[in-house]
Amino acid sequence: MSDRLPGFSTLAVHAGAQPDPTTGARATPIYQTTSFVFNDADHAASLFGLQAFGNIYTRIGNPTNAVLEERVAALEGGTAALAVASGHAAQVVVLQQLLQPGDEFIAARKLYGGSINQFTHAFKSFGWNVVWADPDDIASFERAVTPRTKAIFIESIANPAGSITDIEAISTVARKAGVPLIVDNTLASPYLIRPIDHGADIVVHSLTKFLGGHGNSLGGIIVDAGTFDWSAGGKYPMLSEPRPEYHGIRLQETFGNFAFAIACRVLGLRDLGPALSPFNAFMILTGIETLPLRMQKHCENAKAVAEFLAGHPAVASVSYAGLPSDKYNQLARKYAPKGAGAVFTFSLKGGYDAGVSLVSKLQLFSHLANVGDTRSLVIHPASTTHSQLDDAAKIKSGAGPDVVRLSVGIEDKEDLIADLEQALGA
Ligand SMILES: *Cc1c(COP(=O)(O)O)cnc(C)c1O
Repeated sequence: MSDRLPGFSTLAVHAGAQPDPTTGARATPIYQTTSFVFNDADHAASLFGLQAFGNIYTRIGNPTNAVLEERVAALEGGTAALAVASGHAAQVVVLQQLLQPGDEFIAARKLYGGSINQFTHAFKSFGWNVVWADPDDIASFERAVTPRTKAIFIESIANPAGSITDIEAISTVARKAGVPLIVDNTLASPYLIRPIDHGADIVVHSLTKFLGGHGNSLGGIIVDAGTFDWSAGGKYPMLSEPRPEYHGIRLQETFGNFAFAIACRVLGLRDLGPALSPFNAFMILTGIETLPLRMQKHCENAKAVAEFLAGHPAVASVSYAGLPSDKYNQLARKYAPKGAGAVFTFSLKGGYDAGVSLVSKLQLFSHLANVGDTRSLVIHPASTTHSQLDDAAKIKSGAGPDVVRLSVGIEDKEDLIADLEQALGA
């Protein structure tokens, strides 16, 4: 064996997986079981007391899910990961380890519409208060910091316009404030951007999108960078103080640079319960094997479609960071040199009505609320995902009435352009 470190594509196929030791099965088996037999009473007690690692019950961990966790941790350059039932579940589990009632977290205003809803409404009932900042104005993050701030949350490539966030600049703000930076890396995938390399402490994903990649399975994941000192400042008692449910263990002291991933599993997932089905873990693992190939094609197609739209007379503007004229192109060159992703928006001269009409005329693009599928997708955010926001908030989050969002798939780009041409022209 050579001692060279495997590259990204090799990790995408192999990380975390070995031929099954009992059957020789080469693909990772689906361990479709709720529970696992203990060797004896001592073994059972040590598993429950966190003195030994092993399988107990699929709500807490499962061998198929464990392969997925190891693979995504490897691709993101983290110390450990925890797979959960959805991207939203990942966000709840992460913040539950960090916030007490009455605490605050700062979030970039440009976010997935579902996250805006979750942060604004659902989290309010937990006593967690979101404070919005503008990812294009780094000082707005600094101004938002208070003694109750416990985390900063951003998207690497932001919904819906595909804008690129200056992760390093915001990580500097987080470091100064003594709080972790959480990056939702869903739209980039680790193939395009690895936020931990730029100062992120925690990465979350909706696996439902590019990582799974085929629009067939929900899932989410939390990656621990292992970089944050949870005991400094006494701000994170879940990690630094003795845990009564585990005989007084202190998680950071016991688990060091993967304490956060452990907390998410043994406190968050165990008690809140959003476990990922092993079948979905299998589907997502299969998707990840082709992530590099798919992302290359997604980006190549997105750039061609963006260029076509930029030259079309019915189009007022195109917001794609991969275009040299785009305001995020500098940041795209720095953070995502392999491509600026496949989700972006454009606006139509005909406004709201033109947006609704375009969506109804497209044939190859499916009109639905998802991104990161092999198939090309389209949505009019103002009448759907962002319809709950008032007009000013819609515009601020990049979802004004004239805006259409695309998630460009891996079909032949000539067919995608022909479909847009007929729908815009007719
Ligand atoms: C879809 C999505 C989520 C939520 O993920 P689910 O798997 O649908 O719960 C979070 N963030 C981003 C950027 C997303 O695209």
